Amino acid sequence: MDLQSIASVLRDSFQTKGVTPVDLREKKLELLKALIVRREADIMASLKADLGKSSFETYTTEIGFILEEISYTIKHLTAWTKIKKVKTPIALFPGTSRIHPEPYGVVLIISPWNYPFQLCLSPFIAAIAAGNKIVLKPSEFAPHTSSVIKNIIEEIFQSDDVVVVEGGLEETQALLTQRFDYIFFTGSTAVGKVMMKAAAEYLTPVTLELGGKSPCLIEQSANLDIAAKRIVWGKFLNAGQTCVAPDYVLVPRSLESELIERMRYHLKSFYGEDVRTSTDYPRIVNHKHFDRLKKLIIEDKIAVGGENNREENFIAPTILKGVAWSDGIMEEEIFGPILPLIPYDSLDEAINSILKYPKPLAFYVFSEVPQKQKDIIARVPFGGGCINDTVVHLANPNLPFGGVGTSGIGSYHGQKSFDTFTHYKSVYRQGSLVDIPLRYPPYNAKKLSVVRFFLR
Ligand code: NAD
Repeated sequence: MDLQSIASVLRDSFQTKGVTPVDLREKKLELLKALIVRREADIMASLKADLGKSSFETYTTEIGFILEEISYTIKHLTAWTKIKKVKTPIALFPGTSRIHPEPYGVVLIISPWNYPFQLCLSPFIAAIAAGNKIVLKPSEFAPHTSSVIKNIIEEIFQSDDVVVVEGGLEETQALLTQRFDYIFFTGSTAVGKVMMKAAAEYLTPVTLELGGKSPCLIEQSANLDIAAKRIVWGKFLNAGQTCVAPDYVLVPRSLESELIERMRYHLKSFYGEDVRTSTDYPRIVNHKHFDRLKKLIIEDKIAVGGENNREENFIAPTILKGVAWSDGIMEEEIFGPILPLIPYDSLDEAINSILKYPKPLAFYVFSEVPQKQKDIIARVPFGGGCINDTVVHLANPNLPFGGVGTSGIGSYHGQKSFDTFTHYKSVYRQGSLVDIPLRYPPYNAKKLSVVRFFLR
């Protein structure tokens, strides 16, 4: 299919074939699930080739996540797609009111390379569930996974329902000149702006799942051992290439050394004496990101790690101590296995420093005092986060996942995903037998007093 005409071909199909019946959407999702299960080995191999991910990590954060999402969607789809009757005010008597969920039409989904399977298919499942036609653009920086995704999708979906476009900048730009009914983008804040500009041309609604610096705040009362363990787990998962990974840690100055020791201990228990030989520790996606990350390491502040190897795109889990807000590493999202610790003297000072940055995608608080937890959460605006944990909030389908401000617009997961790709059409239905004359001119004082009675 000609790249330039994809949106219009899918729109023709949407208009001529009509909205896909709900039972057919369910059937397609079941087929998709079964095929993913059958192709598990290929998916694992592609993620190994693209990012060096272990089977455990691939299953937990990519395949299993998606299977669960499909099951959840199928389970709730009938309820979500029902036309819902809502109350009608007495002033509109004797009509009735209903909300009709309808698909937007033709949607464009663009995804990044860090969780290349999950972040591509998660919005895709919702867009299918809602009945849309879809153009799916997996990341060019995870080419093996992109190819498996194309292969799987093309086995199940017809080319006038779903088109998978592989490629990079040129292909994405060609897609962005076309009119879509919705754009769902996951990636950097900088490219998010490109998406929104392109969407503005046709006033296309967008969801932007972006990034930024997600802080982790350790409060004086925290269980330091648990904090250290859960922070290094969340940070070094996928070698730090996770949008919601803790970007930096604020720690009371008096606890910094102990925190480092506990982090060192847990890293060793996760990955052994020599991380490079651990099959559980992934690699940096490419040389470009390796070079970018290497420059962020401040040699004289390394507390743990620092070892690296360009040929293998390997950077060991690296913890930097005594980092200052003015250090270069605090200027951009790290998106790799380097964790700066910033010691603080007062909680107020720590929170005020976080507030100087744009609103983060995620925020993590470690504290054993419920009132402190509440106060801190109330003071810091952020997309989503955890108290005494990291990253796992995104695994709960009842918690909408998304950013705020420069970390994103809109959210998804669970029913919110279905809502994202659905327009809720409001319809008031009136009969013709009764026609109350109140609203029609000529108006008079009596009519006004009746209206006053109802509208107050
Ligand atoms: P990116 O923004 O560089 O690229 C995303 C995709 O956009 C690319 O695959 C490419 O096809 C396209 N693209 C890139 N430049 C473009 C341009 N100028 N014009 C049009 N299209 C363009 O992001 P990335 O490097 O793939 O991913 C890393 C970023 O994504 C990080 O900032 C991370 O925090 C963020 N992220 C966010 C989430 C989330 O759920 N909020 C999840 C994963 C990653």
